[in-house]
Amino acid sequence: MAETESTSAEGVEWDLSDLYESHEDQDLKGDMEKLTEKAERFREKYKGKVEEADLEPGEFRDAMEEYEDIYELMGKIKSFAMLYHSMDTQDPDRGALLQKSEQIGSEAKNKLIFFELEWQDLPEETAEEYLESDELDHYESYLRHWRRYTPYMLSEDEEQIIESLQNTGKEAFKRLFDETVGQIKVEFEAHGESHEMVLDQALSVLYEDDREKRKAAADAVTEALQDENQLLNFIFNNIVQNHTTICNFRDYPNPMTPRNLDNRVDKETVDALMEAVEENVDLVEEFYETKSEIVDYETLYDYDRYSPLPGSVPETDFEESREKVLNAYEEFSPKMREIAEKFFENDWIDAELKEGKRGGAFSSSTVPSVHPYILLNFTDKPRDSMTMAHELGHGVHQYLARDQGALQQSTPLTTAEMASVFGEMLLFDKLINDVEDPETELILLGNKLQNDFATVFRQVIMTRFEQDLHQTQREQGELKSEEINEIWMEANKKEFGDSVELRDQYGWWWSYVLHFVHYPFYCYAYAFGELLVLALYDMYKEKGDEFVPQYIDLLKAGGSEDPKDLLEKIGVDITDPDFWQRGLSVLREKVDRVEELAEETGKI
Ligand SMILES: [Zn+2]
Repeated sequence: MAETESTSAEGVEWDLSDLYESHEDQDLKGDMEKLTEKAERFREKYKGKVEEADLEPGEFRDAMEEYEDIYELMGKIKSFAMLYHSMDTQDPDRGALLQKSEQIGSEAKNKLIFFELEWQDLPEETAEEYLESDELDHYESYLRHWRRYTPYMLSEDEEQIIESLQNTGKEAFKRLFDETVGQIKVEFEAHGESHEMVLDQALSVLYEDDREKRKAAADAVTEALQDENQLLNFIFNNIVQNHTTICNFRDYPNPMTPRNLDNRVDKETVDALMEAVEENVDLVEEFYETKSEIVDYETLYDYDRYSPLPGSVPETDFEESREKVLNAYEEFSPKMREIAEKFFENDWIDAELKEGKRGGAFSSSTVPSVHPYILLNFTDKPRDSMTMAHELGHGVHQYLARDQGALQQSTPLTTAEMASVFGEMLLFDKLINDVEDPETELILLGNKLQNDFATVFRQVIMTRFEQDLHQTQREQGELKSEEINEIWMEANKKEFGDSVELRDQYGWWWSYVLHFVHYPFYCYAYAFGELLVLALYDMYKEKGDEFVPQYIDLLKAGGSEDPKDLLEKIGVDITDPDFWQRGLSVLREKVDRVEELAEETGKI
C-alpha cells in the first residue's frame, strides 16, 4: 500500500465523543440494550392498536413520539458505528461494531415494522380523521407519505416472502455485480510505461490532461468490460426482470413509480424536468465545439469528454480554503457562516489523510440531539475547497433541520443537494469574481461546466437509457449485450450531437454503472438537484437579501414536507417546465461566457 502523503490538513481530526467515546464506551453498550428493550416494549404496547383504530389522536401522537425516540437512539448508535469505522476501516474492532450496530438496528426495525403496515392498512376515512386532527399536525406530512405506498402493498405473508426471497434474488445479484466490478483490473501502456489499476482509478484517468494516457485507459476499460460481459449482461437482465416482476405484483403503473414515491415527486414533475433538459441539449454540443477549438483537436472522442482545459489553477491549502468558504458563506448570510464555523471550532470535521480512512467526502446528520459530522480527504487540490463548500452546505442544512426531529430531519434525495450545491456556487462565484486574468476564468468555468453537464444532461440521458432498457426487455425478453449497446449508444449520442465522436467501443460502457443495478431510475435526481439550485441561485441574484431568510427557512424545514409544497412557499412551481428552464438558462449563459473568454484570450 502506498504511504499516506501528508497535506495541510494534517491534525484536522474530529472528536466523536458527543456521540460516544469508543467501541468500549459503557454508554454505548447500555444504549444498545436499551434500543432492543424499547423496541420490544413499543411492540407490546401498540401491536394491533393502529389496525383497530384503538388510539385517540393524542395517544397516536404519543406513539409517534415513542417511535421517533427509538429511531433517534438507533440513529445515534448506527451513526457512531459508521463514523468510527470510517476512521480506520482495517480495524477489526471497528468493523465488528459496525456489523453489530446494523444487526441490532435490523432487529429493532423488524419489531417496529407492524406499526407502519397497520397504518398503511387503515381504511381511507379513518386515516383521514387522524390526519386532520390537530394532535398529529407535526407528523401529518410524514404519515401521509407512508400512506402513498398503500395501494401497492401486498398481504403481510406475501411481503415477508418477497423480503426473504430478495436475499437470493435482487440482493444477491447486487452483490455479485459489486464483486465482479470490484475485481476488474485495467491494464494499459502509455508513453512506454505500463499501468495496472482498478476500474474506478482507470475511469479517473479520463480527467487527466495526458491524451495518450486517456485513450489507452479508455481502450483498456472497454476490453476489461468485454471480458466480464457474459456475467454483467446476465446480472443486468436479471435485475431488470426482477424489477418488472415486482412492479407487476404490486401493480405499479410505471417502472419509475417506486423511485418517484421514494423521492416524493410525481411523474408530471419528473417529465417536466426531463423534457426541459432534452430541449436544451444543444448546449452541450455548442460547448464541446468550442472546447475542440480551445484544445485544438480535429475531433473530440469519448475519452476527451472530461479532460481539463489546458493551463493550471493555483493550489490551495486547508486554512486558506476554510477562510474562502467561510467568507463566501458570510457574504450570503452571517448565520450560515456562524453555523459553518462551528464545524471547525468544535472538531466536527475530519480532513487529514490517514491510512485505512474511508475515501471520498460526506456529511452525516447523525441525530437531532447531537450535530452533524463531516468527513473530507483534503489533498490540497483546488477541487478540495469545492468539496469543503459542498459538505459544509450539507452540514448547515442538517444542522438547521434538527428541530424537525429524527423522522423528518432528512430530506428526500431530490432536495438533499439543495444546500451543498448552493454552497459550492457561493464559493465558485467568489473565486470567479476574485480572478483577474481571463485565462484562469476560462479554465475554472470550462471545467465546472463539464461537471455540470455530467450532472444534468448525462443523468437524464442515463434515465432515458434505463426507460428504454426496461421497456425493450418487457417486450422482447432477455437482451443480448449488442442490443443493450445499441440502446446505450442511441441515448448517449443525443447528448453530444456531432461535437464528440463516441466510438463503437463506448457501446459497452453501460455495464459498470452501479446505479442501474443498485438503484433503478435514481439518476434523474442528480439533474433535479443541480437545476433546482441553479434556479434558486438565480433567484438570489435577482432578489438579493430578501431571498436569504426564505432560503434559510427552506433548509430548516428539512424533510417535513414534500419538495413541491416546500418550494411553493418561495414561489417556485416544480411542475412547470419554465421553472426548469430557468436553471438551464443559467448554464446557457455560462456556455456563452466560455466562448467570449476563449475569444478574448485568443484561444479560438
Ligand atoms: Zn452531496
